[in-house]
Amino acid sequence: MLQALGYAGFGSDRLDDWRQFGTNLVGFQAVERGNSLLAFRMDDRKQRVVIDRSLGEGARFFGWEVRDAAALDALAARLDAAGVAVTAEPQTLADTRRVAALISFSDPAGNRLEAFHGAEIDTTPFAPGRSISGFRTGALGLGHVVLTVKSIEAMLPFYTDLLGFRLSDYIEAPFRAYFFHVNPRHHSLALIEAPRDGMHHLMVELFSLDDVGQAYDIALSDEDRIHVTLGRHTNDFMTSFYAKTPSAFMVECGWGGRELDPATWQPVKMEDGPSLWGHERVWLNADDRAAAREMRLRLAREGKRAPVQVMEGNYNLMSGTCAWWDGMKG
Ligand code: FE
Repeated sequence: MLQALGYAGFGSDRLDDWRQFGTNLVGFQAVERGNSLLAFRMDDRKQRVVIDRSLGEGARFFGWEVRDAAALDALAARLDAAGVAVTAEPQTLADTRRVAALISFSDPAGNRLEAFHGAEIDTTPFAPGRSISGFRTGALGLGHVVLTVKSIEAMLPFYTDLLGFRLSDYIEAPFRAYFFHVNPRHHSLALIEAPRDGMHHLMVELFSLDDVGQAYDIALSDEDRIHVTLGRHTNDFMTSFYAKTPSAFMVECGWGGRELDPATWQPVKMEDGPSLWGHERVWLNADDRAAAREMRLRLAREGKRAPVQVMEGNYNLMSGTCAWWDGMKG
């Protein structure tokens, strides 16, 4: 049904700050669209992330991609039959979103969701805002979105039964979080239970670990920019850090995310996590910070680790595993 997270948009009037953040830190390409809209490219598509001054601060929308017009009609009918109010958006909005057509509806927490098909491809090559190797998107979508919700249970039937999200894994302590996939990306959506419904973070994945490390250095030069330090997640194996955006949420800059096979994957309950190491959350109080550290130190004592996930072209196979073979190659 849904294939990928195609685009995301956020309301903010801090367009200058967003342009600076998006291009200089993350590596997005900024595209100006009039006075009210700032669009970011991540790849050959015309836009992936947009910041809209005409929407209020805190407003957000997420564009979920379907295959074609028939799939979009089928989804609209399915939502309608389930009693979800669906709007067939006019061509003017489709033009603004740079897609062929879209519908809109809301999740039970009031997040605006859009489903679309036919994303427009730009005729000019992607030109990143700083020198990076690029973003891992394609069939995996632009990355993942993580929302805070008052009740995960209140969201589950909507996202799983109706929209077809499949549970990857979940964690019940020290906080509750559920991770969902719609393609081989380990999660395109996660829900964290919290006192308020809100936006937690948007993750983008870079091709090179050094892209993330250099973003980290750039982030270090701003006071209070890094809200989660460099670390590696237990479930999607992402090596990442989280930077505070000009709005009230974070962008996670990641590298080396695992893929799962949606045809055979079985959801698992995680007892460890969310991180193998690192990922200190700056907002935690002393007790929670100490508890998170103790959990990571337990993983360290247990020798918990995971192989790196690499793409063709960004690794060299080392010697060192077999003295006899290394000697033969002498
Ligand atoms: Fe994340």
